[in-house]
Amino acid sequence: MENIIEISNLKKAYGSFEAVKGVNCSVKKGEIFGFLGPNGAGKSTTINMLSTMIRPSSGKAMINGFEVTSQQAKVRESIGIIFQENTLDEKLTAYENLLLHCRLYSVPKNVRAERIKEVLEMVELTDKKDNLVKTFSGGMKRRLEIARGLLHYPKVIFLDEPTVGLDPQTRDHIWQYILKLEEKAGITVFLTTHYMDEAEHCDRFAVIDDG
Ligand code: ADP
Ligand code: MG
Repeated sequence: MENIIEISNLKKAYGSFEAVKGVNCSVKKGEIFGFLGPNGAGKSTTINMLSTMIRPSSGKAMINGFEVTSQQAKVRESIGIIFQENTLDEKLTAYENLLLHCRLYSVPKNVRAERIKEVLEMVELTDKKDNLVKTFSGGMKRRLEIARGLLHYPKVIFLDEPTVGLDPQTRDHIWQYILKLEEKAGITVFLTTHYMDEAEHCDRFAVIDDG
């Protein structure tokens, strides 16, 4: 199977502190890949380098055939990202949040309504689409963020601790959507977690500790 992500000796230093000390791994097209490690291990730093949010100090990472520092725009077109912290606009409705994302990602006007309908159905938020996000529970916000990350049909979706802070039932629910992504859309999923038990849902996983 073809590798859609290839990471070689990827490092990130903040001053004299090395947060990521040379990660090597690859992810196959269509798999759910887990990046498992305790708090402070360097998971978010790695995901932020892979998604072009921060620049690696050294090393190389290829996403969908594009290099993360020299081909940033191409990488961004190829990916969806769900950050560790909530990045929804709480003063907008679910629908408005999705529409804003369509505009930012240049989803053609004539397909926006259909795409939004499709992703809302997937995460079962259709009946809540006109409600303000600030009225949503933590689980609903996560589902909406997953929906938003899918709007531009990315090849790879990055999820940084998608289930942290959620109750066990909601965690299960979020996992159902993640597994559906693989089944339905054939999307490659790269996710981080510090829950050992979540690794079992992954096709493969890597462990990171202390960078
Ligand atoms: P994880 O996501 O695995 O919990 P992070 O990638 O957020 O870990 O952080 C890894 C390490 O890098 C931590 O020790 C953290 O304090 C440090 N770190 C992260 N971002 C910065 C930054 N901007 N400046 C300095 N240190 C940072
Ligand atoms: Mg983190």
